Amino acid sequence: MADKAAMRHVDRKATDDGRYGGGMNRTVTTLADGREVIYYDEDPGRDRTAKDERELPPPSPPSEIRYDPVLDEWVAIAAHRQSRTFLPSTDQCPLCPSRPGRATEVPATEYDVVVFENRFPAFSGRFPDEPEDAPSGPGSAGPGLGRCEVVCFTSRHDSWLGALSERRVRLVVDALADRTAVLSGLADVAQVFCFENRGEEIGVTLHHPHGQIYGYPFVTPTTRRMLESAARHRDRAGRNLFADLLAAERAAGVRVVVSNEHWTGYVPAAARWPYEIHVLPHRQVPDLPSLTDPERDAFGPLYLDLLRRLDRMFGIPMPYVAAWHQAPVREGRDLAYLHLRLFSVRRAPGKLKFLAGSESAMGVFINDVRPEQAARMLRASLPNDGGTCP
Ligand SMILES: [Zn+2]
Repeated sequence: MADKAAMRHVDRKATDDGRYGGGMNRTVTTLADGREVIYYDEDPGRDRTAKDERELPPPSPPSEIRYDPVLDEWVAIAAHRQSRTFLPSTDQCPLCPSRPGRATEVPATEYDVVVFENRFPAFSGRFPDEPEDAPSGPGSAGPGLGRCEVVCFTSRHDSWLGALSERRVRLVVDALADRTAVLSGLADVAQVFCFENRGEEIGVTLHHPHGQIYGYPFVTPTTRRMLESAARHRDRAGRNLFADLLAAERAAGVRVVVSNEHWTGYVPAAARWPYEIHVLPHRQVPDLPSLTDPERDAFGPLYLDLLRRLDRMFGIPMPYVAAWHQAPVREGRDLAYLHLRLFSVRRAPGKLKFLAGSESAMGVFINDVRPEQAARMLRASLPNDGGTCP
């Protein structure tokens, strides 16, 4: 099985091929159970030879994907994730650096940005065996191929992304771009999704500042619908849907929250969430690896400004999801438009937006905050010198 896994991951040295961000300081090594760990350092020459001395069982058993023929969507069944680490105390955090007497998922005693394969993945190329009790009928099922990775933004447990430096955010973007390029080279991966969940209200199970990277074995329903809409718009108007939306928002200005030479962040007119901001580069690109160095440099200051505004608004840490929408690996790359969707489930102090009947069952969102009002509040929420730390 190990050989099969290795064969599935032959193309992992895909980057540093002249694309942007190629000058990064990257070290690839492995954990005790064979999972990869990749260090991204701000400066060259860091010692990344520390070994994982733990005795670990083999990585998690296979997950499974099952097709729902009624909604035309895949569902991942990953029962092993029930046993994953849930809100450990700070001294048991698996994302902190290792120290004498306590080995974690990161063998080094400090790090800048580090990525490793998730120990409890929803998708994995390591277990390509067919499940024994797959359902029969009009649906179908298969192994949950793909890849799930964890990306830690800092070795400081009690920090958050909004408190980090512009240089560190740039390194995070470089790391996400690099992983997107590598995962895009895997035969099983159809789409790469980089995201961060922040806050227990969102369902975060580890407090350490981190995001995740999913390499899905199929194009996700949301991306598929976006591409269908973009195709219809192109047939009708002859232009890119996202570019037209961005131009209209920049011209109107009423929902724009932040902007600079290369990026604009605005509340969409039909926002689903109480506080939702879409951040788009001014140039249509399919994915993070396609961003130029100036575009990557310009993202950090704008994003930090936005995150700090979000926290400043109610004076309490805002739970959020930050989701990078990228083109699928092998289709729709001319229609897609890289963008970040940042949204919070908090509609007021002490009040959360839940996905209840209308949203969960019918897909119809009821938003309690007018998007124009949300944009006004975010514009008026002046950033302090580092945001609030949880
Ligand atoms: Zn930690």
